[in-house]
Amino acid sequence: MNLFNVYPLFNINPVKAQGSFLWNEKGEKYLDFYGGHAVISIGHNHPYYQSKLKDQLEKISFYSNSVQNNLQIELAQKLGEISGYEEYNLFLCNSGAEANENAIKLASFHNGKSKVLYFSGSFHGRTSAAVSVTDNPKIVAPVNYSERFIKLEWNDLKQLEEIFKTQGNDISSVIIEGIQGVGGIMIPTAGFLFKIKELCEEYNAVLILDEVQSGYGRSGYFFAHQEFGIQPDIITTAKGMGNGFPIGGVLIHPKFEASNGLLGTTFGGNHLACAAAIAVLDVIKNENLIGNTLEMGGYIENEIKDFPHIRSIRRKGLMIGIELDRDCAEVRKSLLYDHFIFTGNSNDKAVLRILPALNIKKEETDIFINALKTVLEEI
Ligand code: PMP
Repeated sequence: MNLFNVYPLFNINPVKAQGSFLWNEKGEKYLDFYGGHAVISIGHNHPYYQSKLKDQLEKISFYSNSVQNNLQIELAQKLGEISGYEEYNLFLCNSGAEANENAIKLASFHNGKSKVLYFSGSFHGRTSAAVSVTDNPKIVAPVNYSERFIKLEWNDLKQLEEIFKTQGNDISSVIIEGIQGVGGIMIPTAGFLFKIKELCEEYNAVLILDEVQSGYGRSGYFFAHQEFGIQPDIITTAKGMGNGFPIGGVLIHPKFEASNGLLGTTFGGNHLACAAAIAVLDVIKNENLIGNTLEMGGYIENEIKDFPHIRSIRRKGLMIGIELDRDCAEVRKSLLYDHFIFTGNSNDKAVLRILPALNIKKEETDIFINALKTVLEEI
């Protein structure tokens, strides 16, 4: 049987990982500045995380959601504490798309309306509703053309006000990333977020903040939108939440009533996934990874900002977009094949996307900085 390959593959097969490094079967060592797409939050194979997962594996891995699982309660309490959203309820699922799918559905159940606003450059996942609010030319499907889903320009306040004025009574929710990741590290302005929040309140629409990529400390705040002090109705999370173990979450304001059976998924919140997610939160807190994120993010930007061929740097914490004066594909390839460093790209071909683990060390960032300098100087 052939594998249904959905990604263009770099022909590297990592077989071992530790901290911010990966090794292939030949023993070649790679620096991970992509975090497996913002998933590796506390570094690969963190010893505390590993020991917690191993302990859990020896006890119990899974049982049905119809039976109480105190690890889910511990996870919800710890997530509430670290994020400051203690009054919210947490629904546990398995991925970012699933979290967004449930958020959009919950909003519609709540206010009985159907239209969903989303923004240019967005990425919310590949399931049916999630892909319908995703602005990615590669995955546009007939579902995207449903009049339920309305695309607006990023940071365009005028268009936003206009659409609420004309269709506000039909708008169920607005979904927006804390910081657009796949879109090329696009940071919303405070005014844009405030206006969305204000209009959602005025028209009884639900504000959904997708923090799947920008959350879990990556931006230097636990959730990126917290920089602006706005409070969403629903927050979705995944990726860095499990550091590689599949888990997603929906933080739901208590004003929402979840009727029996509305939210549910067989594997959601299983014992192993919860153990992984609890370990991640413990490490972020105990090792002050948000402090390190702020420090290392600032250091990287400062060191690279005057390199040739860099047009601009868009950054919050360790969510970094380096805009070049050309397509970044060749630079990425050279970083990977000549310097053994993984980086990411984005919808905007010029933007090199950097998403290292939140506990990256200074000497590891120096490897990247020196390699980037060499590659850019050789162009
Ligand atoms: N939301 C955002 C902001 C994302 O970046 C992604 C993944 N790139 C998703 C949702 C989808 O997450 P998943 O692949 O876990 O379904």
